[in-house]
This record gives sequence, structure tokens and C-alpha cells, in this order.
Amino acid sequence: MRANVTEYSLVAPPTLHEALRQLASDPELTPIAGGTELMVALSAGRLAQKTLLSLNHLRELRFIDAHDDTIILGAGATFTDIRRHEAIAEDLPLLTQAASWTGSIANQNRGTLGGNIVNASPAADTPPALLAYGATLTLISAAGTRSIPYSMFHLGYKQTALAPGELLYSVSVPRRWPGYRSYIRKVGTRNAQAISKVAIAALARVENSTIRDLRIGTASLRETPTRCGATERALTGQVLTPATLSTLVAAARAALGTEARPIDDIRSTARYRAAVAANLVEEFLGQLAG
Ligand SMILES: Cc1cc2nc3c(=O)[nH]c(=O)nc-3n(C[C@H](O)[C@H](O)[C@H](O)COP(=O)(O)OP(=O)(O)OC[C@H]3O[C@@H](n4cnc5c(N)ncnc54)[C@H](O)[C@@H]3O)c2cc1C
Repeated sequence: MRANVTEYSLVAPPTLHEALRQLASDPELTPIAGGTELMVALSAGRLAQKTLLSLNHLRELRFIDAHDDTIILGAGATFTDIRRHEAIAEDLPLLTQAASWTGSIANQNRGTLGGNIVNASPAADTPPALLAYGATLTLISAAGTRSIPYSMFHLGYKQTALAPGELLYSVSVPRRWPGYRSYIRKVGTRNAQAISKVAIAALARVENSTIRDLRIGTASLRETPTRCGATERALTGQVLTPATLSTLVAAARAALGTEARPIDDIRSTARYRAAVAANLVEEFLGQLAG
């Protein structure tokens, strides 16, 4: 059933400080940034919360600051802001690519990094890259700020570490990856404007044919965006050459099988997702070996 919009109200505090104060006094207020998730839910009559707290106009949340070792993105940075940022394109290409294939241009102009993270879809586009890069989140409330590794933010399906009264403030991403090679693929129904059936973003440092570090972030392989620790451990320290490639691919497939928990849903089947994820890891290993 379509929603009756007159049942909803929206408050738009002029500053972040005032937004946090209002959220502290009424934790039921629902933050809305670009609205590309929430307005779809509202329009479809699926948005239970009736009072929205607008963040969209808050300049304090919309920034990208490039420092020597990190790039810090405000939660209100849009996909377009990310896609067009030169330092991100230079040092964090996985993030640029993820932002570039999120939805349509209209989505990218409006949708925010904060909304993508807090919406907590296991299929969202930026989380695999943020997991591979080891991003840290800063959360903010009227009581102050705290930082947590992004890998600890998703507690379960659509459950996050945000406490009542807290907002996501920023995302800090280490930008120096000397000697790393990167890989990212999103597999969906179409090449553009499709939610992923499965996606992988990965980084690897290979020295003297030995895998020294491997970081694999995935979407749609579990109930939350997930880093594949078992697969990483199975491959790290191994010698990767064209001669050992098939052995390592077998080890990767076995390890991935122990940690992937894909589901059947309207977009795909668990079997397809598991098979494609293993193929993508194999593709990355093949590139590294080559
Ligand atoms: C047609 C269409 C195509 C899409 N395609 C893709 C796609 O390809 N890939 C993809 O990943 N997503 C896609 N999306 C989903 C959506 O565009 C993204 O998830 C986007 O990043 C949401 O950001 P937003 O600012 O619009 O979030 P909103 O809708 O404003 O909010 C989403 C959630 O985040 C919360 N929130 C937002 N900001 C904060 C904050 N700072 N602190 C605390 N909570 C916050 C809100 O309360 C809400 O729960 C698509 C959506 C549509 C409608």
C-alpha cells in the first residue's frame, strides 16, 4: 500500500550540533541523508518511523579531507563527490570504482556514503572496498565521538553498532598502499544500475612470488558485508607462481567455502553466489600470478 505522506514530518536543524541535541532528546527520530533508501521505503508504505531528521543540508557532514596517510570522508559525501575526488582515484581506486557503479547518476548525486554504510545492506557497493582498505568509522552523538573499525560495525543483518542518539560522522581510510595490487568486481543482472548478486574488492602485496598480505572484502556472501579472514589466512605466506596457481586456487576455494554463507533471494541463489565468489577469487589470483 502506498504511504500517506501527510502522516510523516521532517525536522531540519540548521547545524550538526542542533541535530545531535534533537536526536538525544528523541532517539526515535530517523536520520535521512540523500533519502535514496528511505524515500523508496516511504513511498512503498514500508517506513514505520514517521518523524525524519534531515542531514542532507548539513555542510559539516559533507567533506572529503586528504591527509598524508588517510583520506577522511564525511558521512554526507555523495557518490559523485567520491567519484570525482582526485586523491581517492589515485590512492583508493577500489572506492572510486564502487562509487562509480552505484545506481544511476541521479543516485550518485544524491546518495551518501553514510547512508550506504548505515543502511547496512549486505549487497551495498562501498563496504567491500572499505573492508579491504581497513576503514575506521567515527560515530558522533551529543555526548561526543568514538571511533571503531568498520569491520566491527555490522553486528547482524541490518544491525549496526550505532547506539541510540548516534550518527555516523566520518569514514577514515588509510591511503598508502605501496606495492599492493587491487581487484574489484561486481556481478549483477546488468553491468549498470543493478544491485550486486555478489561483489569482491581485494588488495594483495606479493613479494618475491610470496603473498605477504591479502585483504578481501565481499558483498552478498553473508548477512553483513564481510572480510574473508579464512581465505586470507589460507593464502598469506604461500608462494604464488603460474606453477602453484592451481594449488592455491583449490586452497582458496576450500577456505572460502568454510566462511561464505550466501542466501537465496530475489536477485540470485546461494549456489550461484558461492560459485561466482570463488571464480572471482580465482580471477584475482590468476592476475597476481601473471
Ligand atoms: C534506483 C536505486 C538504485 C540503487 N542502486 C544501488 C547500488 O547499485 N548500490 C548500492 O550500494 N546502493 C544502491 N541503492 C541504494 C542507495 O542509493 C544507497 O544505499 C545510498 O548510499 C543511500 O544513501 P542515502 O544518503 O540516500 O541514504 P538514506 O536513504 O538517507 O538513509 C539510509 C539509511 O541510513 C541512515 N543514515 C543516513 N545517513 C546517516 C548518518 N550520517 N548517520 C546515521 N544514520 C544515517 C538512515 O537513517 C537510513 O537508515 C540504490 C537505490 C535506488 C533507489
